[in-house]
Amino acid sequence: MDSSKNHKESFYKGSIWDDVDLDYEKLLERAREGLEDVMENSERFTPPVPEVLHEGSKKTIIRNFTEILDILRREENHLYKFLLQELGTAGSIDNRRLVLQGRVPEKKIKERVKLYIDTFVICQECNRPDTDFIKRGRTLFLDCQACGGKRPIRTKLIA
Ligand SMILES: [Zn+2]
Repeated sequence: MDSSKNHKESFYKGSIWDDVDLDYEKLLERAREGLEDVMENSERFTPPVPEVLHEGSKKTIIRNFTEILDILRREENHLYKFLLQELGTAGSIDNRRLVLQGRVPEKKIKERVKLYIDTFVICQECNRPDTDFIKRGRTLFLDCQACGGKRPIRTKLIA
């Protein structure tokens, strides 16, 4: 005879499950409310998309550069350096816009901004953007405010 199994059964007997029927409607209601909360919290984050303008073949402008930073809550200099390095060009920040030298294809800019968001902003556990950097020794971690997850940022890119 398996005594541990018997013990388990008697544990569930007379437990909260016996009362479920009494308050079934209330429980259902509570469950529905809980579900709504969860859905609200996990509302999908829409990553900002750079608005790119070309001025002839000499300049490429990201018109909403500062807006992107505001949404991502990242420092101007960080994304700025990242983009210059990734796009292999020089540039400057001018009145909330990022001005890049040369004609940089829009597609390339969008890809790099997305790479930045995936690497430095989005929590891989809950897909939320509510993250901060934490430095431990020489490793930079992404610290998620939404789920408490931490992961090292694995990149050879500047941070
Ligand atoms: Zn998270």
